[in-house]
Amino acid sequence: PAAPLLPVIGAGTPVPLVTGERRPYANLDYAASAPPLRAVADHVDEILPYYASVHRGAGYASQVSTRVYEGARETVRRFVGARGDDAVVFTRHTTDSLNLLARCLPDDGEVVVLDIEHHADLLPWRSHRVVEAAATLERTLSRLETELARRPAALLAVTGASNVTGEQLPLGLLTRIAHRNGARIVVDGAQLVPHRRIDLVASQVDYLAFSGHKLYAPWGAGVLVGRSDWLDEAEPYLAGGGAVREVAVDRVAWAAAPARHEAGSPNVLGVAALARACQVLAALPEGCLEAHEDALRRRLVGGLLRVPGVEVHRLWPDSASAVGVVAFDVAGHDPGAVAAYLSAEHGVGVRDGRFCAHPLAARLGRPEGTVRASVGAGTTAADVDRLVAAVEGLVRDGAGWTYSVVDGRCEP
Ligand code: PMP
Repeated sequence: PAAPLLPVIGAGTPVPLVTGERRPYANLDYAASAPPLRAVADHVDEILPYYASVHRGAGYASQVSTRVYEGARETVRRFVGARGDDAVVFTRHTTDSLNLLARCLPDDGEVVVLDIEHHADLLPWRSHRVVEAAATLERTLSRLETELARRPAALLAVTGASNVTGEQLPLGLLTRIAHRNGARIVVDGAQLVPHRRIDLVASQVDYLAFSGHKLYAPWGAGVLVGRSDWLDEAEPYLAGGGAVREVAVDRVAWAAAPARHEAGSPNVLGVAALARACQVLAALPEGCLEAHEDALRRRLVGGLLRVPGVEVHRLWPDSASAVGVVAFDVAGHDPGAVAAYLSAEHGVGVRDGRFCAHPLAARLGRPEGTVRASVGAGTTAADVDRLVAAVEGLVRDGAGWTYSVVDGRCEP
């Protein structure tokens, strides 16, 4: 991929190196927050003149805002292939969406999770059983089945793709395992939805959560979509204006979902941006985002593995596919130092640490963390090559050096 698949904001912005020189930024940190698409920024510009609160105003700008906001709900519904009666609730982000679902579980039902989840899909559950991932994906699936069969659970909560290794989970199989054991399934789509199309009807997945800021839109807007019965019955997660049908001083009749869980003035711009990103991705020819990212991932993994002392991590030898998220280590170098070096000496942005998945880091044998590089629609082969060349440079010249960021400067 010589060119970005889609234009993004900020690609190639000059950033300062430790030498004072400037280099175009190579953003290889899409998994944390993807840069906004140019089309998303243009859409926000288009609707800004109609900045007004939704639902409550009779003025023209308020009518436009309401149309934009409710239109975004329909766009998201189509984008994920939701069932006609699914609720599409706008939240702040994936974390918020999963916490909302946790509050809506009937009778505080139990949740089964794997130990490879992001903390957002581990910590919200009030009553959960953690299944340890096995050495192969196949054995991991059978452990999940055994656990669900052993004692009933209300919900199986799984990530669509690991935020550390990028490996995808087989959602069709997992859905069948959950359903035949009487549980529903929620997919943490934070890392999957930006990279792969998902269809709730075809996959029969019950709930899906994702974030706008990983989907080429700004921060502050996320989605929980899925079966409306639990959401219609649960006490609202946030109580307040907009979530009610009728209020008297001594009683309240809550609205049905989604309004029930969207009290307060909503983030119209964030939601509109998220929906425009969905439209742009949906308009790409089928398979073309996957092909772009697969080629970049292969180039990245292949390039890194050719550097002596570099190890690329994966959870399972039998996982069939992965999105463009790669965790690696450079022998003899602390992950934080590798990431600081890449930024300060080369203008290459990656992330290091445990990526809000501490049990997963321990499972990979990297309890102190690792380095993560991630790609997306705005990434080019040249970005990947710069990262690989920089890692080669570190291995060649940086033996025994440690880098630390002191006062915003990186010092050997
Ligand atoms: N789940 C996964 C797999 C993630 O990668 C992330 C973000 N790192 C989250 C959940 C949480 O997303 P957010 O911070 O947008 O709530």
